[in-house]
Amino acid sequence: MVDKPLNLKSTLSNKIQEQQAPCSCGRGEQVRYYCAQDTCPAHRDDIFFCDDCFSDLMMKREPHFFLQIPHLLEDLKGKWMPLIEKEGHLYAQVSGWYNSQKEVIEWLERQAERQAGVSGRFIRKDMLSFDQFHEEFRHQISQYEEHIQTFNAPRLMALNQKRIQLNEVIDRDYQYLTELGKPEYVFDNYKSCIQNCPIPTDPEQASLRESVLSMKVKLGKSNIEKASSMVRRQYTSEELIEEMNNLKHIV
Ligand SMILES: [Zn+2]
Ligand SMILES: [Zn+2]
Repeated sequence: MVDKPLNLKSTLSNKIQEQQAPCSCGRGEQVRYYCAQDTCPAHRDDIFFCDDCFSDLMMKREPHFFLQIPHLLEDLKGKWMPLIEKEGHLYAQVSGWYNSQKEVIEWLERQAERQAGVSGRFIRKDMLSFDQFHEEFRHQISQYEEHIQTFNAPRLMALNQKRIQLNEVIDRDYQYLTELGKPEYVFDNYKSCIQNCPIPTDPEQASLRESVLSMKVKLGKSNIEKASSMVRRQYTSEELIEEMNNLKHIV
């Protein structure tokens, strides 16, 4: 009974081994090892090798970092899993926030497209692009899962570059969409479009109409506050002293 986990482990190793490709040395053995040393010049193009090649390398006493192929599969799984979770969580969260404000975002973005000199982001466009990315990502994941199930180490290694790129695209293009979770974000983003934005007249768009109107009111209030604080500042600096002097003369 104590041996059972070990037996299971060796069965899996055997299964993985059976699926491996013949070694590029041409001596007819399947690859069993890989060199995990990033900058190894001898394994730049092909990291996999067989028992015979292993012996050759040991004889040469070159510094390589050898591991057996099951370790590579574990290593790559450990890199894909956090990315799959990160993308899934981000997409679910951002879609939820986007959909709850979709109507008003689309309305304001139409104005933003008509208007020159918009400083904010085109959230709707970015969300459409994220939808497409999500589809492509799922396609890559299904390929990854297929290669994991068939223990296809070379294909998984080739796909690893794609994993790095996918992660970069998420961080660069879509991570900012979590800002949609902040209540002021849509207002702040489209601030320059609110004043000239038309008010929806369709009775079916009552809640959109309300949102647009309340944004216009909010913008108006913030403009009045800004204007009055400017007036106060000017008054306190020079004009107030003059005013005081005038008052002294009168007294
Ligand atoms: Zn070989
Ligand atoms: Zn090497």
